[in-house]
Amino acid sequence: MTKARTKTVSPHNRSAGAPSRPEWRNARRVVVKIGSSLLVDRASGQLKAGWLESLADDVAHLVHHGKDVVIVSSGAIALGRNMLAFGKGALALEQSQAAAAVGQISLASAYQAVFKAHELTAAQILLTLGDTEERRRYLNARQTIETLLAVHAIPVVNENDTVATAEIRYGDNDRLSARVASMISADCLVLLSDIDGLYTAPPSSGVASALVPEVRQITPEIEAMAGAAGTALSRGGMVTKIEAAKIALSSGTNMVITSGTVEHPLRALDLGATCTWFLAPSDPVTARKRWIAGQLEPKGSLHIDAGAEKALLAGKSLLPAGVTKAEGSFERGDAVVIRGADGRELGRGLVAYARTDAARIIGKKSRDIAAILGHEGRAELVHRDDMVLSRF
Ligand code: GLU
Repeated sequence: MTKARTKTVSPHNRSAGAPSRPEWRNARRVVVKIGSSLLVDRASGQLKAGWLESLADDVAHLVHHGKDVVIVSSGAIALGRNMLAFGKGALALEQSQAAAAVGQISLASAYQAVFKAHELTAAQILLTLGDTEERRRYLNARQTIETLLAVHAIPVVNENDTVATAEIRYGDNDRLSARVASMISADCLVLLSDIDGLYTAPPSSGVASALVPEVRQITPEIEAMAGAAGTALSRGGMVTKIEAAKIALSSGTNMVITSGTVEHPLRALDLGATCTWFLAPSDPVTARKRWIAGQLEPKGSLHIDAGAEKALLAGKSLLPAGVTKAEGSFERGDAVVIRGADGRELGRGLVAYARTDAARIIGKKSRDIAAILGHEGRAELVHRDDMVLSRF
């Protein structure tokens, strides 16, 4: 395993004068994935504090320019194994979990400290594969991240290694970061790696290879390049990065692989650093709406009155007050069909309440929801971001 070095940005590690891409410049919500080898010095097992400070500097710059930034960071196991003196060899699963439990404290404190220096608040989010697959937990995680972003905090996500056993874990943060990006409809996912992009053959193999600057579709050829380019430098290597790209592209998120071995790696992207862009065929909103409209089987329907129909056509959310009847058997987050007074399908959306609760609040004012249900909930029954209208 080659030790990742930290260098400062110089003309040598960016392509000559290449301008940054609009996919990067115009991104409003960015997820940045940071691999262990960038953050933790392999020989000493210590955190690379200077590098982390340079990253926090870049993140603060983005946040001050109005962007939402979420970090997905590895490094817990790498830090913890040193603290527990587990040596350099392969760890058993339970040792990795113990190391992560110890290292995660240091990792989270390090992020807290570097962001505090920029008057930003870091928030720790630990997720498992199940949290991103199971609807209710997914919605809760998404809501937490949204709430943090709304107050300009920086969510720092890692896998919850303690409870993530072999069969139910990501094991790599490449795919986890793509799921997070998809969950929060990020428009750009940056994989900071120890390699500066996808190559047609592994740069170390001796075979002539070239960097692939742009990928629009994950073809068998692209997968073959990734298979060949597997590297010991990170847990996932290129294979999991291509898996991440599949998730990102289908969610309308552009993804970029670039080198994180330089200080200020995000500023380097501004300066046109060498990288591979994976370009999504649509934006996250369109991809999400397509998913709601076409991929999900509706579990029920909501009949609405003429006033609500008018409000929906004007781009508003569906409030309980405008709903006259709820049919079917649905849970919070399920897809439902929205029908007009005459039964016509007006659209589809993800409902914010389960059928039993919905039945109690339909026809009522949103401000009365807490009193009726005994707990606070969303003002909307179907939020406009979670809705696709079939006619305009
Ligand atoms: N969750 C692991 C950690 O923080 C890392 C997984 C990965 O290397 O992608 O150490």
